[in-house]
Amino acid sequence: MQSPPTSFLRQNNITLLRCFMALFLGCITARINLCSNLSITILSLSHPDSPNIPSSLEKISLDGHFSFDDVHHAARDFGNRYRFLPSAILRPKSVSDIAATIKHVLEMGAGSELTVAARGCGHSLQGQAQAHRGVVINMESLREPKMEVHAGKPPFVMDVSGGELWINILHESLKYGLAPKSWTDYLHLTVGGTLSNAGISGQAFRHGPQISNVYQLEVVTEWWIETVSAGKGEIVKCSEKQNADLFYSVLGGLGQFGIITHAIISLEPAPKMVKWIRVLYSDFSIFSRDQEHLISAENTFDYIEGFVEINRTGLLNNWGSSFKPQDPLQASQFNSEGRTLFCLELAKTFNPDEVDIMNQEIESFLSQLSYVPFTLFISEVSYVEFLDRVHASEMKLRAKGLWEIPHPWLNLLIPKSKIHVFAEEVFGNILTGTSNGPILIYPLNKSKWDNRTSVVIPDEEIFYLVAFLSSAVPSSKRTDGLEHILTQNQRILDFCETAHLGMKQYLPHFTIQKEWRAHFGPRWEAFVQKKTAYDPLAILAPGQNIFQKAIPVS
Ligand SMILES: Cc1cc2nc3c(=O)[nH]c(=O)nc-3n(C[C@H](O)[C@H](O)[C@H](O)COP(=O)(O)OP(=O)(O)OC[C@H]3O[C@@H](n4cnc5c(N)ncnc54)[C@H](O)[C@@H]3O)c2cc1C
Repeated sequence: MQSPPTSFLRQNNITLLRCFMALFLGCITARINLCSNLSITILSLSHPDSPNIPSSLEKISLDGHFSFDDVHHAARDFGNRYRFLPSAILRPKSVSDIAATIKHVLEMGAGSELTVAARGCGHSLQGQAQAHRGVVINMESLREPKMEVHAGKPPFVMDVSGGELWINILHESLKYGLAPKSWTDYLHLTVGGTLSNAGISGQAFRHGPQISNVYQLEVVTEWWIETVSAGKGEIVKCSEKQNADLFYSVLGGLGQFGIITHAIISLEPAPKMVKWIRVLYSDFSIFSRDQEHLISAENTFDYIEGFVEINRTGLLNNWGSSFKPQDPLQASQFNSEGRTLFCLELAKTFNPDEVDIMNQEIESFLSQLSYVPFTLFISEVSYVEFLDRVHASEMKLRAKGLWEIPHPWLNLLIPKSKIHVFAEEVFGNILTGTSNGPILIYPLNKSKWDNRTSVVIPDEEIFYLVAFLSSAVPSSKRTDGLEHILTQNQRILDFCETAHLGMKQYLPHFTIQKEWRAHFGPRWEAFVQKKTAYDPLAILAPGQNIFQKAIPVS
């Protein structure tokens, strides 16, 4: 790794103090709590102490452009709870637009409060892609490089822009009969956004998360800018073989080390169809035993997830017309008797000429499972329909005005050895009456995760993703309201802590650095060292709340 630039470490005390006071006072005067209960935070746009920001940015020569007036949408995200108004939005047309902007912010030095956040689609939950009074880079505007599929001979790969949507990648790669190997449940997310986290779905047990399926990245970092400024280098491409430290730092790096402008991702031959299967369990031990068996088996399904049914359906539970019970008469007599049920969700991909063999395989796999008799439901859909399944729910929710409401989601990674204790307390005690959205639960194989990346996962061979995907009814004071859900989330977090479950948050959110230290554990020092190397002024992704600009990162 290149030794860290020392410029910010050498800042004299007066500059630091001035800067700190400006930040501190600015925050105090600007902080407004919309609700008395502190659950929604908005930071004001007015910034009388830095009136020259727009004019200084306007001087940068760009292929794209800045917007200064219409910035409110960049102060919103899917979580719909945090609103940090930026000073400007950059709509880049080229990578050099991004580099020039970061260079400019660097040149303004530690005395300026300007920060920079890349924004994919803003599907973050707690302001992670926002920049209070800073510059938000609208990554979807970046259309270079154009998507390019390399379909000649394996390994099949695809060049994509960091701002590309996974749904577009799917459609483009399918033109060549190929598709990425590892997905998220929802595809209207960007490459840069999911690679900054991990990118997890039901294929991850086999292929690992999306960050395990990248060959190369192109990244704009302060470090690169410094190198270029000194006339020493070119844009940083990084991979396992080249600038490996930067490559692994950026993967799962929460946007802390640079802006991903380009990625080369791994593809495989795409199937045409999917058998999509759901079976029910009333006993968590049997459910999880079957899940663990399936993710460890040699020959198995292509997608393995699961969810908890607590008296209510939600975003992903489109049981409606598409899922047919294999035995309609018996299934109609099935009564859950108010019990919490666990649904194992499976998919097997196939091509039309493989139907017979696929059906035999499914029969054989299912015969190894111990679900409640007659609770087998099957659907057959195209590969695209399967992968883009959440979008259909999105359209329905948007039509009812239920997409843009607060989403107090909680995503946890729980070690296998503790999942039973967790399930007993959370599904038996904390969440009894109802849930406010889907609750996903499925195991993952640690061996498919690269421990050189920045993402933090539990220290066990198998761990579970448990995702509480709640929606809050605005202004409700009842159990479907934000306050109630946040209290419930906190109870779950408190239980994990007091019971020492070794839980790690996915899409983590913490408000103080002490909590970030605990999240990273023994990896904290290395994370700080990387920050010092690649973003020493701490200008990137301020919404993650890990480091503050011009306050030493150690
Ligand atoms: C309906 C829905 C379903 C989801 N399903 C899944 C799922 O199945 N699995 C899963 O893993 N996640 C899932 N997510 C979470 C998703 O991975 C995160 O929201 C993630 O942040 C990607 O969203 P985005 O592209 O809009 O990124 P943003 O929210 O815009 O950004 C996320 C973070 O990455 C940084 N960033 C964005 N682009 C770049 C870039 N080019 N370079 C460097 N940093 C960048 C931002 O500054 C920010 O800190 C889901 C989210 C939603 C809303």
